[in-house]
Amino acid sequence: MIDSFGRNIDYVRLSVTDRCNLRCLYCMPEGGVEQLTHLQIMRFEEMLRLCRVLSGLGVRKFKVSGGEPLVRRGVNDFIADLKSLPGVEQVTLTTNGILLRENLEQLKRAGIDGINISLDTLNEFTFRELTRNGDIDSVLDGLQAALAAKICPIKINALLLKGKNDNELENLAALSRDMEVSVRFIELMPIGLGTVYEPVSGEEVLRRLTAAYGEPEEYDRPMGNGPAKYYSFPGFKGKIGLIDAISHSFCSSCNRVRMTSDGWLKLCLQYDIGVDLLTPLRAGASDAELQELISQTIAKKPEKHVFDQEKGKIDNREIKNMNSIGG
Ligand code: SAM
Ligand code: SF4
Repeated sequence: MIDSFGRNIDYVRLSVTDRCNLRCLYCMPEGGVEQLTHLQIMRFEEMLRLCRVLSGLGVRKFKVSGGEPLVRRGVNDFIADLKSLPGVEQVTLTTNGILLRENLEQLKRAGIDGINISLDTLNEFTFRELTRNGDIDSVLDGLQAALAAKICPIKINALLLKGKNDNELENLAALSRDMEVSVRFIELMPIGLGTVYEPVSGEEVLRRLTAAYGEPEEYDRPMGNGPAKYYSFPGFKGKIGLIDAISHSFCSSCNRVRMTSDGWLKLCLQYDIGVDLLTPLRAGASDAELQELISQTIAKKPEKHVFDQEKGKIDNREIKNMNSIGG
């Protein structure tokens, strides 16, 4: 699918649930959120149908996300089905890691092509604070299990908040010194509860890591589907990635759209622009009709985000929290 700015959209981030077993400060409110009802959430057969239609339009890669995707029963079978759709080349997962160990065997059998584990601290108390009572040992155990199962690639996604966990930058980066994993530092985006905290810029990350670990080499071969820029630090087994959407916009090469668990095809993180695909699907739309609807919608994909603009001045600004968008 080519959008009106000539970008080839071949990657979809698919949120299979808005529910989560953690409550990260920057993502979900303490009391949880008003959850979608079972009727509002797509059944896996419905998701598969839409994914088949999307792959018919040229989508080749899917990232299964959430909420926490592993809390949804049947997700491993869904991943296996998604993998076997014609045209689908890659299915990866983004998880908080809490339920990773117990799902690994099935994920491996399903043919998962890579796992991203979100981990913002290595300190058990800070982890409890950031996730509102999560147990870091389950995540570290899941990471070890994924390494032992030779899942490749494994990426750690770390999000730093000024004054909360930014002192852990060097320790988190050391995971890729000691293990075959990439550690990617994601700049906090001012979406939902992300507006409450102060981000740490990619520039600061690079400066501090250079001071701690020596001059890095830019790694310019493609790694993954996303906008991360990768660096090799001397003696490190894995790479360090920066995903700094705010300080370095990568909109001109954006290759993605999102689909939420209630069937909303979302065009850009910052805007609430897209189309409801579930209602027409349930009303009996044919594949050709769904394809037409998707193609017309893709043509409206915004050129770029304007996170630096005042909130009140942005039309169609996204107000949902990240757990319902999928990150
Ligand atoms: N529960 C899974 C997890 O945590 O990996 C998948 C969903 S979560 C919404 C996906 C990613 O979005 C996580 O890595 C999380 O750190 C990131 N995220 C959440 N809120 C964010 C924000 N405001 N800015 C940037 N990334 C955010
Ligand atoms: Fe849950 Fe992931 Fe959001 Fe944390 S970032 S609350 S783990 S959906």
